[in-house]
Amino acid sequence: MPSRKFADGEVVMGRWPGGVLYYELQVTGYDDASRVYTLKYEDGTELELKESEIRSQSSFKRRKSQSSSGSPSRRRTSKVQSRSPGRPAKGRRRSSSQGRDHKDDKEKTIQLVLVLFKLSENNTRRYNGEPDSTERNDASLVSVERNLEPDLEIEHEREEKKTKEKIFKTIKTSSKTKELEFGGRIGTFTLIFFLPATVFYLLLMCKQEDPSLMNFPPPLPALESLWETRVFGVFLLWFFLQALFYLLPIGKVVEGLPLSNGRRLQYRINGFYAFVLTAAAIGILLYFQFELHYLYDHFLQFAVSAAAFSMGLSIYLYIQSLKAPEEELAPSGNSGYLVYDFFTGHELNPRIGSFDLKYFCELRPGLIGWVVINLAMLLAEMKIHNQSMPSLSMVLVNSFQLLYVVDALWNEEAILTTMDITHDGFGFMLAFGDLVWVPFVYSLQAFYLVGHPTAISWPVAAAIAVLNCIGYYIFRSANSQKNNFRRNPSDPKLAYLKFIPTATGKGLLVTGWWGFVRHPNYLGDIIMALAWSLPCGFNHILPYFYVIYFICLLVHREARDEHHCKQKYGLAWERYCRRVPYRIFPYIY
Ligand code: NDP
Repeated sequence: MPSRKFADGEVVMGRWPGGVLYYELQVTGYDDASRVYTLKYEDGTELELKESEIRSQSSFKRRKSQSSSGSPSRRRTSKVQSRSPGRPAKGRRRSSSQGRDHKDDKEKTIQLVLVLFKLSENNTRRYNGEPDSTERNDASLVSVERNLEPDLEIEHEREEKKTKEKIFKTIKTSSKTKELEFGGRIGTFTLIFFLPATVFYLLLMCKQEDPSLMNFPPPLPALESLWETRVFGVFLLWFFLQALFYLLPIGKVVEGLPLSNGRRLQYRINGFYAFVLTAAAIGILLYFQFELHYLYDHFLQFAVSAAAFSMGLSIYLYIQSLKAPEEELAPSGNSGYLVYDFFTGHELNPRIGSFDLKYFCELRPGLIGWVVINLAMLLAEMKIHNQSMPSLSMVLVNSFQLLYVVDALWNEEAILTTMDITHDGFGFMLAFGDLVWVPFVYSLQAFYLVGHPTAISWPVAAAIAVLNCIGYYIFRSANSQKNNFRRNPSDPKLAYLKFIPTATGKGLLVTGWWGFVRHPNYLGDIIMALAWSLPCGFNHILPYFYVIYFICLLVHREARDEHHCKQKYGLAWERYCRRVPYRIFPYIY
């Protein structure tokens, strides 16, 4: 077997994936079997390259000095500047040599753009007079692009897209999950039992007259009372009704982020329509005197049905994932350990035809189900306490959470860039989270209020409403700012925002909400979570479970995201962290 040419630690010139330019890289590893080197770019970004794509520094320098007299970048610049940006590119006649020249020009121009792009990342220019020399707004690269002729622009865009996809692929290609999260195999094994037990415990506690923590453990119901086939049937009906709404050919179809193989999956955006259709169906049921508080009366049985279904679904997903090609497995759920992969999700985007199971479960049956459960609690409260109107506390909880769900469905497209879709596989964690945890734990405040009426005054209600609005404003504007920036970084409406460029081509915002703390959207979400619990008063800690759990969840999620971003963005991320030192709570954390 031929031995490797470059040693670990050696500084070499590596071809940038998809491009024609070579950059200085350091060898960090070598795989004998595939003969592929792992290399690190100066900002920490890792690449995998074949030996044929690497050259020693000395040979590279020699070649360069032989072939060029003068500065190549100067020559290329003058060529681009001599072209008129407005000159039509099509309909011109060229001889074959002219055509070749033109092709050469195009290649050179593309190279120039790449060179300028790399230079801009290498701290050679100052933007907006910012003290940090690498921060900029969208002007630099865009202005070079705008000077290209239309066909050059198209070619450049194509080249850039190809390059980005290849970089993405190279960075994301990793066969096995090496770092185990959630406490590894033992942690995930425990969570498979602990999560359903927690839901069960919370619901039992909430049903108690005195849900004080002192009354632990709550009396256990008879095992046979937990299951009713009719309830399971209603749950199935609900799930498949939502699936039917998802399949309706209404709403636009959009593409998700590129996968590790460069492919983009298509998703139909019709969650809001599904919500409207569900609201109409519920309205019809109520009109025909259907007793929606049936949900309240059989709440525990519904939770057990949903848990049984999510377990069955997770088993199906795991078995199906064993047939999936390696490139379709989730980067975080491919450890080779059955329990771990079953919990975190082995396959990234399991689909039945074009039906995307993870995307569907994320926002439909559980999230819309949560609103329906809240409404059932409101009706149950009125019925049980013989009220002609629901209590103010119940109205607040229902309205705040309705706003949250409607917002998520209205902005459904934004979910395509979240960690759940791009990173986590679909396994027990998300199946149970989407179908059981969200609808049955997030509705705990409304469930609590049915059994434990809490009176609040109008001024208190107004103060809580203001708190919720502040939280919502931060949450929504932070999410929109990032989503809009990711969708179109050169949007003139975002020109006031500054960002740090990174080697992946994406920028990291350092002004606006993302310059305030590193996760302003989490901050807004937590403020809202507090506003949802406050209408339940201060008699018991149980209705505050959501806000306590949510802080733990988002702190943990932030740490996971931070870890991924550090791998993705290397030095640029560290620079961002120095510039924006607080993660979620300004001056605290
Ligand atoms: P985020 O929307 O917070 O996105 C994190 C990603 O944003 C990073 O991976 C990075 O991805 C990008 N990013 C980070 N910093 C910057 C920056 N400075 N400039 C530009 N881009 C940046 O991820 P989540 O999926 O965790 O959250 C989405 C929403 O869902 C949040 O509002 C959260 O509160 C909510 N949520 C709600 C839950 C619930 O149960 N109610 C549970 C979990 C989340 P890249 O660079 O690749 O684009």
